[in-house]
Amino acid sequence: MQTVKSADVIIVGGGIMGSATAYYLTKADPRLKVVVVEKDPAYQYASTTLSMANVRIQFSLKENILVSMYAMEILENFEDEMAVEDRRPSIAFRREGNLFIVDAAGEKTARRAYRLQKELGCDIHWWDPDTICKNYPLYRMEGYLGGTFGPGDGHFDAYGVLMGYRAKARAQGALYVEGEVRTIEVERGKVRSVVLASNDRLAAAAVINCAGAWCCQVLENTNVKLPVKPVMRQVFALDSAVKPEAPLPLTVLPSGLYFRTETGGLILLGKSMEQDRVGFDFTWDDKRFYEVLWPELYEFVPAFDRLKLVRGWAGLYAVNTLDGNAIVGPWPEIEGLFLANGFSGHGLQQAPAVGRYLSELILDLPISLDLSVFDPARILENKPIAEVGLV
Ligand SMILES: Cc1cc2nc3c(=O)[nH]c(=O)nc-3n(C[C@H](O)[C@H](O)[C@H](O)COP(=O)(O)OP(=O)(O)OC[C@H]3O[C@@H](n4cnc5c(N)ncnc54)[C@H](O)[C@@H]3O)c2cc1C
Repeated sequence: MQTVKSADVIIVGGGIMGSATAYYLTKADPRLKVVVVEKDPAYQYASTTLSMANVRIQFSLKENILVSMYAMEILENFEDEMAVEDRRPSIAFRREGNLFIVDAAGEKTARRAYRLQKELGCDIHWWDPDTICKNYPLYRMEGYLGGTFGPGDGHFDAYGVLMGYRAKARAQGALYVEGEVRTIEVERGKVRSVVLASNDRLAAAAVINCAGAWCCQVLENTNVKLPVKPVMRQVFALDSAVKPEAPLPLTVLPSGLYFRTETGGLILLGKSMEQDRVGFDFTWDDKRFYEVLWPELYEFVPAFDRLKLVRGWAGLYAVNTLDGNAIVGPWPEIEGLFLANGFSGHGLQQAPAVGRYLSELILDLPISLDLSVFDPARILENKPIAEVGLV
């Protein structure tokens, strides 16, 4: 390990959350000593690199919508903002839209979310089945009322964004250390240091837990108990015999099945299911695709009855079992301990706003976008916040 012994801020985990936070901290105060400890620097298992990389304004909680609006602003200018000398990251941000299909059971919730998105100035449309079929002739809309279409929603290269934040944070002075944080040491109610698997100790007055699905392991020696579970989710890449004429938006059925076109003419498909395994399991299972997801897919897109499963993968959601929302801010019982955990499948798009917010909290700067609704204190108070229908 590098011979670093102390820092102003230690970030545990250098995925999108840790790297965005390191970027905003060092941007706000270039003299700040920020150390990011990452145990898997190839990011083989990080959720960031295993995600669908989608950003959408289609949420039903105001703050989640505002967080995504900020992400879109950042992604639009990301390649310029994150350039380091003559090296520019390439993030392939494609605004191909998200389409949430609505049935009778989900109509009330969808209309409420749609109205809120409109009020907040989002580009969002309520489409009837004819409009949907006109735009996406492969879809079969029988039994559905229509859908909400967000044309500005889209996807991007998650690894590219991660590398962009990481490179810029390093250029601004952040230090990345390879290692595994085993313990956070607390003395008289204050964070003192972290101890790595190598037994090296790093002292700091502020530690941010950005360890994704591993966030509870990092807290094991403290008395902090988070309602966060690692849940395995699978993604399948498909090559269809019939190719759509234009890219398909991320289309989400009321059952939770979702798919979109990927660069290279493939289709990516997934679905969160009750029986998804809890634990650190990365084995994907083609039976799930053939037996459950494919029949559901070709009922909605009959032309996809002929296709090839090209590959698949499994990654982890850090599921907040209290309310499915982020847990962001200081832990009230330990001074200097900050959390950015429990993103429950939508953390990638939340990293810019969360990283900026944490940097403003830690450096005592004016808050640009108030995210106190996600305050960790609600865990202790057992006060869930509601995101209805669209998680
Ligand atoms: C299949 C799938 C699809 C998804 N789709 C989307 C989507 O479309 N849009 C969206 O916004 N989000 C999506 N997500 C969720 C998103 O990927 C995550 O919310 C986000 O990447 C979380 O970022 P993170 O930095 O907190 O976690 P991670 O990316 O997992 O990073 C945490 C890092 O911490 C490191 N670490 C853990 N423990 C330690 C330790 N003790 N010491 C040192 N390092 C440690 C890990 O190695 C890891 O690199 C998806 C996730 C999955 C699995």
